[in-house]
Amino acid sequence: EKVAALLGTHIAEYPDFPEPGVLFRDITPLLRDATALRTVIKHWVSMLPEDIEYIVGTEARGFVLGAPLAYELGAGFVPVRKAGKLPGNPASLRYDLEYGSAEVQIQQGALPEGARTLVVDDLLATGGTAAATVELTRTFGVELLGASFLIELEGLQGRDRLPDVPITTVWSIP
Ligand code: IMP
Repeated sequence: EKVAALLGTHIAEYPDFPEPGVLFRDITPLLRDATALRTVIKHWVSMLPEDIEYIVGTEARGFVLGAPLAYELGAGFVPVRKAGKLPGNPASLRYDLEYGSAEVQIQQGALPEGARTLVVDDLLATGGTAAATVELTRTFGVELLGASFLIELEGLQGRDRLPDVPITTVWSIP
C-alpha cells in the first residue's frame, strides 16, 4: 500500500552501525520529506485507539514521532529520557541491553492515575526499551492502551517482551 511504499523508499539502511553486525534503519529521510512525514503521521493516527489522553515517547526518536502524534490526537506528550536529563527527582528504571545496561527516567507526577495512555517509539527491536518504558508508565496506574511503533523488526521478537501490551506497528519488517 501507499504508506508501506513510502516507508520503503524513505527509510535508509546502514550496515554495521552503530556496531558491526547491526543493520541500522535511519528514519531521517522520512523526517525531512514534508509530504511523506505528514502522510505517515496521518496514517499512523488512523491506526490508533480512540480517546488517547497521553503519548509517552522514548528519547530520542520517540520524541520526534510522538509529539506530532500527540498534537494530531489532541493528547499530551510525556518524555521518557536517558538518566540525568529530567529535573525534579525523576523515577528511574535500569534495564539490560544486549551488551551492558541503560537507565531511563520519567518525571514525578507526569501522568494522572487512570489516564488513557499510549507508549510510542520509532522502532521495536528486542523490546527492552519499550518494556522499560511501559514499566515506568504503569507505575502511575494509568490505563495503558498499548505501545505503537513506526517500524517493527519482527525477527527480534520484541513483542515477546511485552506479552500483555496491545502492539500496533506501521511497518513490519520480517
Ligand atoms: P530495543 O530496546 O532492542 O527494542 O531497541 C529499540 C530502541 O533502540 C529504540 O529506542 C530505537 O530507537 C533504537 N533502535 C534500535 N535499532 C534501531 C535502528 O535500526 N534504527 C533506529 N533505532 C533503532
